[in-house]
Amino acid sequence: MARYTGPVCKICRREGTKLFLKGDRCTTKCTLDTRRGSKAPGQHGATSRKQKEYGIHLREKQKVRRYYGVLERQFVNYFEKAARSKGMTGENLLIMLERRLDNVVYRMGLGTSRSEARQLVLHGHIMVNGKKADIPSMLLRAGDEVSVTERFKNSKKFLGTKKIVGEKEHTTPGLLDNFRSATVPKWLVTDKEKVTGKLISLPARDDIDFDVNERLIVEFYSK
Ligand code: SF4
Repeated sequence: MARYTGPVCKICRREGTKLFLKGDRCTTKCTLDTRRGSKAPGQHGATSRKQKEYGIHLREKQKVRRYYGVLERQFVNYFEKAARSKGMTGENLLIMLERRLDNVVYRMGLGTSRSEARQLVLHGHIMVNGKKADIPSMLLRAGDEVSVTERFKNSKKFLGTKKIVGEKEHTTPGLLDNFRSATVPKWLVTDKEKVTGKLISLPARDDIDFDVNERLIVEFYSK
């Protein structure tokens, strides 16, 4: 399926909010903090236009879709499934997105961004309940355990590298460092030695720290 491969900061500029699409790098240097970054991309980006109701709803939907890296068709499927489930549609939708395997891998700290976590899944480095799982959209349930393959545990990407250049030692941290230092949400517990993560419960709406008004998304699709 075709994915957006262009500059990701442009997406944040379009949505006018930090979506943390570059992972850790977003906390140190963000385009949105610059003068150029405060404007929407494109020739007319600097022109301030009052958003109409449709535009407000659309932007909220796009913001969430892009935050989780989901394509439109897939997002509509999530919405329809959320609408059929018991409870509030908006909350169901967010919880479903949060349960995606690529998101859980990212939340565990195995990946500095969701796109990196997604790549780890696609490349077959991730296991769920001891079995290889290479579908990023797989929805996890309470009690599922996520781990990495032995082969990946011995890789440079996981362990990091050390290089001596001249008299200086250059260290490139691996994903293990990221995993060990990650703060995980309360519905997830990680074993720092075994490199595993277990969903002790399903995420709740309050556990999703992303600033989103899901009611606007429901209104967008209910028109
Ligand atoms: Fe978005 Fe800033 Fe990260 Fe770029 S650096 S992806 S603008 S949060």
